[in-house]
Amino acid sequence: MTVHLVNPSHVSFGVGVITPRWLYVLASATPDVHGIPSLVDETLERIDVGKVKAGDVVGISIHSGNALRGYEVGRLARDRGAFVVFGGIHATLYPDEPHEHGGAHSVVRGDGDRIWATVLDDCAEGKPSPMYEAGRLDPEEFLPARWSLLPRNRYMWASVQTVRGCPKHCSFCSVWRIDGQRPRQRHADAVVEEIVELRRRGFRYIALADDNFYPVTLSDLEAASRRANDSRLRRLQAIRAERFALLARLAPLPADTIFFTQITLEAAEDPEFLKAMHEAHIIGALVGVESVTPEGLQDVYKDFNPTGEALVDRLRAFRQHGIHVLGSFIFGLPSDGPSTFDATARLAEQADLTFAQFVPLTPFPGTIDFDAWAKRVDAEGQAVAGIPLSRHWLIPQDQNPRVHVSHPTMSVEEIRQGTQKVWDRFYSLRRIWRRAHCVESLKSRLAFVLISKLYRQMYANTGIATDSARLNRAARWARWIAKPCRRLFAGTPMPDLQVPA
Ligand code: SF4
Repeated sequence: MTVHLVNPSHVSFGVGVITPRWLYVLASATPDVHGIPSLVDETLERIDVGKVKAGDVVGISIHSGNALRGYEVGRLARDRGAFVVFGGIHATLYPDEPHEHGGAHSVVRGDGDRIWATVLDDCAEGKPSPMYEAGRLDPEEFLPARWSLLPRNRYMWASVQTVRGCPKHCSFCSVWRIDGQRPRQRHADAVVEEIVELRRRGFRYIALADDNFYPVTLSDLEAASRRANDSRLRRLQAIRAERFALLARLAPLPADTIFFTQITLEAAEDPEFLKAMHEAHIIGALVGVESVTPEGLQDVYKDFNPTGEALVDRLRAFRQHGIHVLGSFIFGLPSDGPSTFDATARLAEQADLTFAQFVPLTPFPGTIDFDAWAKRVDAEGQAVAGIPLSRHWLIPQDQNPRVHVSHPTMSVEEIRQGTQKVWDRFYSLRRIWRRAHCVESLKSRLAFVLISKLYRQMYANTGIATDSARLNRAARWARWIAKPCRRLFAGTPMPDLQVPA
């Protein structure tokens, strides 16, 4: 029996930007008795189903964006006589769907790290259960990834998780509902050991693939203190202290190690934290700005973010502490209008963002926005290709509308075109070159241009373009520039590197 773990993808680029961590965590969770698992990441290339034999186990993790391809792979594997097991956020939310569409024998709901061994034992005995409820694990139960199975020279960035869960409750995000609002932080030792292993293998760029790297804000501490809520205050202080302990452990790593993470804008008000981040080699962060207007922020329950000059100042604070920001913006919120596109593009430039992404509002399952939207479109009987719009991930790729939320004043096409224009503007060669001055040497600037163009091709053109010619062109282009980009990120292996004390 061979265990195959498959990360499904509609598009393959030959080279991956970030290692799909779950593949390597489940590889680590696979007991030796079941052999060394075969890992397939379809963002690199498609699975060769000819290698799947009767009696093998095929584990597929899906989110809504790749569920359709995952179901295709599941059916192909089942036709070859394999046991098919689905997991991941989407399978957790819709546990019946993989059975209906993906040829599943089993579905695992929740964190799969520990239950995977049981699933494999049951498959080996020919008796897999239709459903496994794994729930949420405590952080000391999280498994490290099995990086020894990583293929050479295929990824630009490795990924390590330090915390699961987020205390916020943004309406477009499913993280807090799936992973919970209690931050579950891994011990610094476990995190640092994994990072050192990756650095030994030559990865010097590592994404800290966390839901929210800054789970306790200064305002949270002040509020608990004001309310004289001692137990909450102590809990929050302990979480914060653990973050600083981790940052202190990262600081002595080799000087050329670079981390990137996801964080809320509130960290900008905490210079002590930003300083510690920078000292810990965290020099890039994805910050969810979402909207540049107070109404837009209220639309997404994110009114803890500021707007106007205060927003520009906060975003600049990251840069002042040596942390580059990838700003994330949403278009198509109910309060947006035609002027929102231009205002957002201007703010992204004023705020010294190094990278930015502009995404059309998409109701992702598991979110508050989705629940309200699905209720409405189901009541209206909206469907595409015979599939209810509220199951948009099941609509074939070439017929799937890129924006699903109707807007009070703008048409779907207006939002799509406006979004595309902002991408075009932010990533025009002239503007990229201007931003490239954030690095010193000419070589680094050229690398910056290449990476900016790659980012745009991978995420803008393949994400929001609707005509297939443009999509194919973008994928070809990304495939072509991904290889030289990977070389720019590679570091010299340090096989003798020791874990800092
Ligand atoms: S968008 Fe970010 S801050 Fe908001 S709930 Fe999701 S992870 Fe937390």
